[in-house]
Amino acid sequence: MIDHSPQLPLTGGCHCGAVRYQISALPKRTANCHCRTCQRTSGAAYLAIMFVATDILQITGTYQEYATPAASGNTLYRAFCPNCGCSLFARNSAFANIRPVTAATLDDPSWFKAKLDMWVAEAQAWDMMDPELPKFAGNPW
Ligand SMILES: [Zn+2]
Ligand SMILES: [Zn+2]
Repeated sequence: MIDHSPQLPLTGGCHCGAVRYQISALPKRTANCHCRTCQRTSGAAYLAIMFVATDILQITGTYQEYATPAASGNTLYRAFCPNCGCSLFARNSAFANIRPVTAATLDDPSWFKAKLDMWVAEAQAWDMMDPELPKFAGNPW
């Protein structure tokens, strides 16, 4: 049976291993984002995200970023591995102390549980969501 309790530090990285990260405490804020941009960049119905304080996040390896406008008017920088293209983290121009990290890139994502669904207004009809989770049409924060 799989043990679903997380081991600290949390570790993860891209598919090829060139970019790795460590998170020293459990992220308090988690969500599934169903926005069109997350659909595109993940190649899936939604992106499972951990919002991680920068002081508990340690990144090794060289990643590349590109800027996209966020709905809020801020700039969202999405980071990916230049070798394998894996989506890893983002950074919002308005929030220097917190970074969204893609939960599926954890070495052990089995413990992950989203606390809410965001941007459900842009979700696809074939996107099966947990009916128990609170749903927000856009950004809840
Ligand atoms: Zn890679
Ligand atoms: Zn999104």
